[in-house]
Amino acid sequence: MKPETIALHGGNEHTNYGEHIFPIFQNSTYVFKDVDQGANRFAGKEKGYVYGRLGHPNADILIKRIALLEEAETGQIYPTGMAAISTILLAILKKGDHLITDSIIYGCTDSLFRSVFPRYGIKVSFIDTTDEQELKQALTKETKAIFLETPANPTMKEVDIEKVSEICRGYNSEIKIMVDNTFATPIYQKPIKLGADISMHSCTKFINGHGDVVAGAAVFNQEMAEQVQRMQVDLGTATSPFDCWLMLRGLKTLPVRMERHTKNAKQVVDFLRQHPKVEKVNYPGYSGLLSFELTSGFHGGKHLMNNVKLATLAVSLGYVDTLIQHPASMTHAVIPKEQREKIGITDGLVRLSVGLEAAEDIINDLKQSLDKT
Ligand SMILES: *Cc1c(COP(=O)(O)O)cnc(C)c1O
Repeated sequence: MKPETIALHGGNEHTNYGEHIFPIFQNSTYVFKDVDQGANRFAGKEKGYVYGRLGHPNADILIKRIALLEEAETGQIYPTGMAAISTILLAILKKGDHLITDSIIYGCTDSLFRSVFPRYGIKVSFIDTTDEQELKQALTKETKAIFLETPANPTMKEVDIEKVSEICRGYNSEIKIMVDNTFATPIYQKPIKLGADISMHSCTKFINGHGDVVAGAAVFNQEMAEQVQRMQVDLGTATSPFDCWLMLRGLKTLPVRMERHTKNAKQVVDFLRQHPKVEKVNYPGYSGLLSFELTSGFHGGKHLMNNVKLATLAVSLGYVDTLIQHPASMTHAVIPKEQREKIGITDGLVRLSVGLEAAEDIINDLKQSLDKT
């Protein structure tokens, strides 16, 4: 089936009530017929639910559908995108291991790798993963995983997943490749097909799309399932049935939303590229995210955001409506200015998550604000 159909029907299940829409199983525990059944479920000899943290129907149907969209065998839902990253990497890595990542990644991922992992004896190298030589030099006997984010936040830098997988596998076939696929979504990129072992999302963004849930997901093939599943149970990174139900509803329109996000973003990019106050526009050519640099720097960015009327001044992205934010003073303010500028996050950089409003209205809003800066 094609993505549009999978998004609506993939993994569909029904109870005996004849309901059309999959219900919310708002339960924390599940009932056993007798002691033997309970024992068999705990031992994994019989399929069935036991306890909310160990799995529930709303998480299961949702992850089946996301996995079908990503062309992966299975996966897991997490309470946040960060929980997906931490749970999986803690399942893969141990003391003494080495992780390679890029110097441009999501702020909290950067913070997890810089300030948390080293405390547990996990070394992390921050490199330019698009530089083949740099990547080859970073690989060591201890390297157990590579974490990529592509396109990356907020500069839209793209990494060739296939090429990185090839280089790493050539060095050591055991190295796990994990990709943050939040910006591209399964509509534009399927990392498992490109050679990655794990693809993850902040479902808070495009997957749910409506700005009413914070959650995450990861997909992978069966061989990783047991190891990762166990870590989720032990860390307790499970997600509520209601949040999963909302995400399944959001997911149904992902393919049409992405089509419109892209169409609108392309028109906004065309407008920005010809505007005299815009120095540079970063846009990969798909999805709804873009960033641009103003000729008037930090002051101009601040002014632009204070004067938009339609776009919402807020962090996060991938929602049905347009969001605008200023990385230098918000999401990336924690990074020292010099380091920030080195990776392309200048004072005048503005990040825009183009929503599903009429492109003309989004453009007019930006125009009236830019004209005042
Ligand atoms: C938002 C985001 C995350 C973190 O996800 P949360 O759901 O906020 O925990 C990770 N990576 C990217 C690219 C993001 O945009």
